[in-house]
Amino acid sequence: MKAKTIDGKELAARTRAEIAAGTAELKASKGVTPGLAVILVGDNPASVSYVTAKEKACREAGMYSREIRLPADTPEADLVNLVKELNADSAIHGILVQLPLPKGISEQAVINAIAVEKDVDGFTPENVGRMVIGEKCFLPCTPHGILKLIEFSGMDISGKHAVVIGRSNIVGKPVALLLARKGAHANATVTMCHTGTKDVASFTKTADVVVVAAGRPNTLTGDMLKPGAVVIDVGVNRVPDASRPKGFRLCGDADFESCAEVASAITPVPGGVGPMTITMLLWNTLESAKRAAGVA
Ligand code: NAP
Repeated sequence: MKAKTIDGKELAARTRAEIAAGTAELKASKGVTPGLAVILVGDNPASVSYVTAKEKACREAGMYSREIRLPADTPEADLVNLVKELNADSAIHGILVQLPLPKGISEQAVINAIAVEKDVDGFTPENVGRMVIGEKCFLPCTPHGILKLIEFSGMDISGKHAVVIGRSNIVGKPVALLLARKGAHANATVTMCHTGTKDVASFTKTADVVVVAAGRPNTLTGDMLKPGAVVIDVGVNRVPDASRPKGFRLCGDADFESCAEVASAITPVPGGVGPMTITMLLWNTLESAKRAAGVA
């Protein structure tokens, strides 16, 4: 293996220490404890584990965490009303609705109900619009974490070619937009690939950084890379593995072994993007609480 591993756990630990210090300072100076409400509807196993991890991280940072679990058959109107109650609750500075929601509930209708000043996931249309035009907003957590990981890798991407594989609203599109922004730790020339792209490898072979968020193992392999490229693997896939206690193992969208032979740096799965996603959620929650207290 030639590539160095970009250790998301290490960066997350450092950043969470800063967030915990900021939380303690806000409590001491303003008597405000940042509060995050996480709503989980149904019992999707991956969602349960994400929500548990978010709640734990929140408590470890000294924040107030409220986890609300609802049955899968909760009516959409009840969920929207719950979000509205949380909008009006002064102990709550951030509201996160864990996606995906069960069939029959419109995710957009629920997200649209979140007050923009508590939209710490950054998914409301108003927040997305602000991000696109460069106004003050909450950056979506996974894309924000990816920017931090690229910075941490030591690569200055200004003027470089970045390829993003995937165009979802929560990862691909915002990552591409943020990498192309004018300013520090951005300013890249960006290509966005998707299933309509004829020859993904023809683009990745000229990329200095590749962000792969396709939701499919082996979407990116070493033979698709330019030597020395930086690889950010967003994918989280459960692959059946009878030798593991849970009967599966996690893998990303990149074939780690072959990519690590060609890349200069690569994020592992697990331990890369995942820890930073949760960290940037805490970051936004602290920011929201500071704004509510009039200090940001
Ligand atoms: P998604 O909504 O399924 O979007 C996947 C995107 O990848 C789509 O735009 C799709 O193109 C494109 N794509 C799929 N296969 C492709 C291929 N072979 N070549 C080129 N493009 C391809 O997924 P998502 O929500 O963005 O998530 C992507 C992955 O990241 C998932 O594994 C998810 O679990 C993971 N994730 C991880 C975190 C974290 O914190 N670690 C956070 C969010 C997501 P079309 O648009 O043409 O269909």
